[in-house]
Amino acid sequence: MPDKKQLSDSDDAPVGPEPSAAQEIAARQARASDVEATIFDGVRDREGGVVQPVRLKASDRFSFRCHKGVSCWNVCCHGADVTLTPGDILALSRHFALRPAAFVARYAVPAIHAGSGLPVAKLLMTGKDGAGPCVFMDDEVGCTVYASRPVTCRYYPLGLGALKMKGHDQREDMYFLVKETHCKGHEEAKEQSVEAFRQEQGVAPYDLINRRWIDILMKMASWRSLGGPMGKDVSTQTKKMFYMASTDVDAFRRFVFESSFLATYQIDDDRVAAIRADDETLLQLGFDWLGNVMFNDPTIAMKQDVLQRAIGAAREELGGA
Ligand code: SF4
Ligand code: SF4
Repeated sequence: MPDKKQLSDSDDAPVGPEPSAAQEIAARQARASDVEATIFDGVRDREGGVVQPVRLKASDRFSFRCHKGVSCWNVCCHGADVTLTPGDILALSRHFALRPAAFVARYAVPAIHAGSGLPVAKLLMTGKDGAGPCVFMDDEVGCTVYASRPVTCRYYPLGLGALKMKGHDQREDMYFLVKETHCKGHEEAKEQSVEAFRQEQGVAPYDLINRRWIDILMKMASWRSLGGPMGKDVSTQTKKMFYMASTDVDAFRRFVFESSFLATYQIDDDRVAAIRADDETLLQLGFDWLGNVMFNDPTIAMKQDVLQRAIGAAREELGGA
């Protein structure tokens, strides 16, 4: 994007681990192979030309400069495919002095993230079939939310992907340079590394907030590429909770404080106090919890008595002692 001026219903009870259980996860992990997934692409070739993404590392250099003198000024802010990360939703909500749910209702549309199949919010594009200008674009001013623009816009013409290698716990970020035929910024002489461009675009604070959310998208993409745990998808309820935690921290806060969540999970008093008031801390709790529910990640633990009761109930169901 130009460098100008630069589903939410929840049950009362927390959702427990997916029916996957440990054997299913182990079976899936045993089959795991290298997986890569696109997190943000924002790629839209409006002229029907060939888009050729080039994969880059943080130290790789590329030529690009966007400024008001380019003949394509603002073209990329029409019909753009901009996934809103949780960090974007918090920043843009604050920009408009709205709570996240009100911001999303006014300026976003629900969509399915291509790699993971999880529900996400995308930035509203105006016009028929969303082919018109971004809802925040002004012909004279350009991007009217520049200081709070989404990370996809900050990264453009880079896309962000993630790669997970077999046997590695951590994902690795990767970047791809997209040369769309309409974008004349690639013809400019300015050369920079991917890392320098990221710094210039101020993506670091967003990376911190979005890290666990991206992990979930990546893991889900990995599961899907393998047919899901034992061929199953995560439940609709879990997908709704993912969307709620990603787009509406107030609803997620009500869920935490008004359901049996705090009686179920071990969360220390300081963290409980923090999530009452701090949206970023609450987001991290949400993604820790979802990582546990969806993938059995050891990111949040049940209280011992709850765990013992669950084990007892499972034994009874299996006819054990
Ligand atoms: S928020 Fe909209 S107007 Fe601003 S850079 Fe992104 S697509 Fe363009
Ligand atoms: S198409 Fe490329 S050069 Fe033109 S305004 Fe958009 S990012 Fe800048």
